[in-house]
Amino acid sequence: MKKKILIAVTALFICAALITGGIFGGLTAARNNRLKISNELTGLTGEYKNVILLIGDGMGKNHMKAGEAVYGKDFEMRTRAVIAGEAMTFSQSLTGPTDSAASATALSTGVKVNNGEVARHKGENIKSNMELAIENGMSTGVIAAEGVKGATPAGFSAHADDRNDLDDILGTQLISNIDLFMGGAKEYYDEHAEKIQNAGYTYFSDMNDFDNSAEKLWGVFDELPTDSAESSSTAPTLAQISVAAIEYLDEKSGDNGFFLMIEESYIDKMSHSNDMEGMLAHMLAYNETVNAVLDIAEEIGDTLVIATADHETGGLQYNGELAADLNNKMFTKTHHTKANVPYFIYSKIDGVPETLNNTQIAYICRYYITNRQAA
Ligand SMILES: [Zn+2]
Repeated sequence: MKKKILIAVTALFICAALITGGIFGGLTAARNNRLKISNELTGLTGEYKNVILLIGDGMGKNHMKAGEAVYGKDFEMRTRAVIAGEAMTFSQSLTGPTDSAASATALSTGVKVNNGEVARHKGENIKSNMELAIENGMSTGVIAAEGVKGATPAGFSAHADDRNDLDDILGTQLISNIDLFMGGAKEYYDEHAEKIQNAGYTYFSDMNDFDNSAEKLWGVFDELPTDSAESSSTAPTLAQISVAAIEYLDEKSGDNGFFLMIEESYIDKMSHSNDMEGMLAHMLAYNETVNAVLDIAEEIGDTLVIATADHETGGLQYNGELAADLNNKMFTKTHHTKANVPYFIYSKIDGVPETLNNTQIAYICRYYITNRQAA
């Protein structure tokens, strides 16, 4: 009898091991197959002096559609695009959707990493497009509504094993030689103001103190309002700081051009908490920012603008509801999903397929950062 139990238990263990091994092996194989999807593109043409990449954190296709129901017409983010399609967002992590650190790294370096890693994989830094732009003599800037310590701006301006290593993120940003940092989280940065100034940045929290002649700028605000009617010099909108940053970088860069990343951080946050009203306010603020950036980019000319998202958040469903009928229950999840996200390119460039790997967006930026006329 005892022997029989022993055999049964042993068989159970072997079965469990086989099943676990099978699942793990299957996940690994699926992950490795995904990672074989190209990170590069062939057939890109032309040259641009300046490159601007905008990221709506957590923005899926339905976030846009719901926003447009409120806006009463299609977003300029959509209507002004010359090329539109969708981007795959998976990270190197074995299970689940990407987080913002891995997707920012993909969009900034063209390399897929594990969730949580910031332009770094298994302890090795990965060169970002910001670093490449600096090597090419371009001026550079990083803007994030929530503050530049967030995973998305960090993926473009820092290196860290983990997105929560805020000291590493700030430490690497301070030696990055990036010309301009701007965004929220004033309270956090005020504690580090001396360190930031010692690194050569002019630290300010009022747009009246925005010094166009400063060598390097670090602007911080409490909370950026989504409505421009509520903005002030100490609480500007994302669109307003983006336009000021572009004017500064354009002036500073002379003939060398600039590379700027702008993130609307709260579409994601509001979607995590299934807050439809809050999400919509930030969705409209993101469209307003893209529209304002396109206006000034047209004015200065020779500027490639791309707008996209890092991943979808909230599993948002949309089936043609009118503005008055939009509600929190249209969110089906409180976390990120694997859904593809929209991308828009505002210049005619050849060789861009409708469905992209998000690393190929980094590749496009990299192509125009490196393929430059001798200035
Ligand atoms: Zn998120």
